[in-house]
Amino acid sequence: MTALGSLPLSETAFDRNGIERVDERFLDSVRADSRTLAVLVRGRDVAVDGETLALLPLSGLTDSQSVVYLGTTTGDEGGVPAGTPIVAARADDEQQAWVPLRDVAAVLSVRDAGLAAAAVAVMGWHETSRFCPRCGTETRVGHAGWMRWCEPCQAEHFPRTDPAVIVRVTDADNRILLGSNAAWETGRYSLFAGFVEAGESLEAAVVREVYEEAGVRVADPRYLGSQPWPFPRSLMLGFAAQLDAEQAASDTTPDGDEILEVRWFTRDELRDPSSGVLLPGRSSIAHAIIEQWLVGE
Ligand SMILES: [Zn+2]
Repeated sequence: MTALGSLPLSETAFDRNGIERVDERFLDSVRADSRTLAVLVRGRDVAVDGETLALLPLSGLTDSQSVVYLGTTTGDEGGVPAGTPIVAARADDEQQAWVPLRDVAAVLSVRDAGLAAAAVAVMGWHETSRFCPRCGTETRVGHAGWMRWCEPCQAEHFPRTDPAVIVRVTDADNRILLGSNAAWETGRYSLFAGFVEAGESLEAAVVREVYEEAGVRVADPRYLGSQPWPFPRSLMLGFAAQLDAEQAASDTTPDGDEILEVRWFTRDELRDPSSGVLLPGRSSIAHAIIEQWLVGE
């Protein structure tokens, strides 16, 4: 668990067996195991059964060519005992109830949300990684779905994750700085966020992103927690930072492109339901970072 508490998608209630799955025969043994259950993935959608993830016997699936081992359950839940192998399988069955993972992330149990995040992330990687980025040859899947191998150039390719920082900026007057994005409806505000650039530290990305989007310098970035956001392959890294002492709070300048408005809010303003301010949905780390501040002193 993070300093932000339990975040949707962030926890793992299964053992990925990273050492055993490297064995070439491991996936075959999982496929042959009659207990093995499958998470069905279609793009960024997962198959659900009410408010739980649909876990279907792998042996009953007609088309399970592309199967990736997710892990083995570590506790009993919903009739699935500890020690049950779980795989991700790509499917396109109209009989299933498909829902976007981001819409159900906050509803699913810790186990199901973790399985679904891994399934959507790794399947998304396979969809765009058929050919070797080094030499263009078609690659072969290994490590029970967690590696692609290129025979001619001997390159091993692993699922990519793009780190992005998301930042809570506060000032000496106990206010929080939020921005309104050009793509959002009127009244919606959130934290400042952006991808870490090549060769950049997380702390430097925090300072640069806030300056680019809000026009102010911040100091003392402190790490809060992280959340996988596999849409398609981000890892959100939450930080808190203070407005730099040399910087006046009134110095804010929205970038005018992505961010149209930058505004300081007090806790009372954000807590007031009549303010008309719309905040991030509860499945996101942005929601947790703002909530943590709201319940503060
Ligand atoms: Zn190659």
